Amino acid sequence: MHRGKLIVFSGPSGVGKDSIRKKIKFNDFIFSVSLTTREKRAGEIDGKHYHFVSEEYFKSRINENKMLEYANFVGNYYGTDLDFVQKQLEKGNNVFLEIECKGAMQVIDSIDDVLSIFILPPTIEDLEERLKKRNTEDLETIMKRIDKARHEIKLKEQYQYNIVNDNLEKAVNQLDQILETELRPND
Ligand code: 5GP
Repeated sequence: MHRGKLIVFSGPSGVGKDSIRKKIKFNDFIFSVSLTTREKRAGEIDGKHYHFVSEEYFKSRINENKMLEYANFVGNYYGTDLDFVQKQLEKGNNVFLEIECKGAMQVIDSIDDVLSIFILPPTIEDLEERLKKRNTEDLETIMKRIDKARHEIKLKEQYQYNIVNDNLEKAVNQLDQILETELRPND
C-alpha cells in the first residue's frame, strides 16, 4: 500500500501558521494533535487544539520513546505522538505537523522523505505587532517568543520551501500549490 507523507509545517510563534492552514483548500491529510503542558487558552478544546497534559505525563512519554519529536518552548513542553503518526502513515494518510523549529529539525534530520515548509514574517517588527494584537500572552512572554523567532528564522534554509506571510491570501495559495504539487498522486 502507498505510504503517507509527513508534512512539517513550521515557523515562529505568531507568524500565522494556524490562520494559513485553516484556509487552505487542500485537505488530503490528517492533522496531528500535539501534546502540550501549557495552560489551555480561552476557547481551546482538549483533544482538538492540543492534548493538554501534565509535565509528569509528558516526561513519561519521552522516557518511553513515545514522542516523534518534542521541544521545550518558552517554558512549556510540546510534542508529537509517535504511534499516532506511524499508524496514519502506514494507513496511507499524509500527516500534517504544525510545530516549532527545534522539533521540526528533529523530524527533518531523522526521517527521509519529509515535506518541509517554513513560514516567515515579512519583518520581526511585524511579528511583534501580531503577537501583541493576539493578546494571548503577557509582554514578557511575547518578548521571549520574539527572541526565539530571531533564532528560528536562521534555520529557514533547512526547509524545502519558504513562504513569506506578508499577505494571508497569497500565503494560503502558495501553500495550497506546494501541497498539490508534492502530494497529489499522479494518475
Ligand atoms: P502555542 O503555545 O502558541 O500554541 O505554540 C507555541 C509553538 O509551539 C508554536 O510555534 C507551535 O506551532 C509549536 N508547537 C505546537 N505543537 C508542537 C509540537 O507537537 N511539537 C513542537 N516541537 N512544537 C509544537
